[in-house]
This record gives sequence, C-alpha cells and structure tokens, in this order.
Amino acid sequence: MSTTAGHIEVAAGALVLLIGAAGSGKSTFAARHFAPGDVISSDQLRALIGKSESDQRANNEVFDRLQTLVRKRLVAGALTVVDATNTDWMRRAELIAMARRYHRPVLGIVFDLPLDICLSRIAGRLRTVRAAVVRQQVGDIHRDRERLDLEGFAAIYALGSTNQVEHVILEIKKGPVARALSS
Ligand code: GDP
Ligand code: MG
Repeated sequence: MSTTAGHIEVAAGALVLLIGAAGSGKSTFAARHFAPGDVISSDQLRALIGKSESDQRANNEVFDRLQTLVRKRLVAGALTVVDATNTDWMRRAELIAMARRYHRPVLGIVFDLPLDICLSRIAGRLRTVRAAVVRQQVGDIHRDRERLDLEGFAAIYALGSTNQVEHVILEIKKGPVARALSS
C-alpha cells in the first residue's frame, strides 16, 4: 500500500473510503475525525431498512442506498466518508468510478489490524458478525494490499496498528473542491 500514515490530508469534496474488517475501528475513527453528517454508514443504513447489522442478505439493498446517498453528496461537492468494510473490490470500483464521474478525488484509509484484535473488539457487541466473516474480511484486506494502489485512489493511507490508528493526525483541507486528475 502507498503510504503508512502519520498525517492524513483530506481535500474538501473528497470521497473517503474507510476500508477494514468489522471491529477494526472504522466507526470510532469516523466519529473522531469527521462531522457526523459527512459519514455514510452501512450499518446505520442496514438498521434503517429494518435488517439486523449482521444480515448479509440485506447487503445489496444497503449498497444501493449507500451509492445513491454518495452520488447526491458528490454532485453537491460535499466531503463524503463511507463507513463500510469496503473489502469487496467490485464495490470499491463502483464508488471510485462514481467519484471520477464527478471529478472528486478518492482517498482510502485502510485499517489493517490483526484478526484477533477485530474479533476481541466485536465479542462484546449485541448483534455480532460471525468470526468466519471477519476472518474473510481481514484476509481480503491482506490480499488486496497491492491491488489497492491500482484501483484509482488519489491516495491510500494504511494504518497497521492500534497505535497508528490512535495517533494519526487527520486534516480536512478547506477551500475549493480539488479536481481529481483524470487519467
Ligand atoms: P468498526 O466495526 O470497524 O466500525 O469498529 P468500531 O469503530 O465499532 O470499533 C469496535 C470497538 O473497538 C469499539 O467499540 C471500541 O471499543 C474499539 N476501538 C475502536 N477503535 C479503537 C482504537 O483506536 N483504540 C482502542 N483502544 N479501541 C478501539
Ligand atoms: Mg462500524
């Protein structure tokens, strides 16, 4: 992956994909660094449409809704953070293609934490994700480390430990929406 993060710069109007297994700390990170209105959470959408957070069957419907919301925000030039596992490269590709259509840069923030940390963190949840699903997600992230560089992100920031996640500095740039280079 491109950059081991100490300092993350987020352009105004960017699309930010948080990428990490359940329990890797994505929602905590989003709440800490971004305004709540800028974050689109797949778990919240799943709850809204009346399916449990662990119901995988609702995933397609949730992703459709997520895409619709992301598109509206991209059209408006609003900073948009997608709080979902984003471990499926085909779904990443759809979101990246959409951002490019509206000339918005896409940043990836990867929560590359060990499986046992993710599992221990979700153990206390009321509705929990199956361990096998989390193992698969962690595996997907390891497997895709190299290919992420080729997917069209303007930058990828990799957080490889709890320490890094806790200490990274994230700066949201003010000002006109940066135009992504179309290549
Ligand atoms: P998500 O499934 O990736 O959204 O993970 P969450 O953000 O919900 O985090 C899962 C749990 O891990 C939270 O309830 C926190 O208790 C814990 N957690 C998340 N981020 C951190 C962190 O940076 N440091 C520590 N010590 N715990 C964290
Ligand atoms: Mg979450």
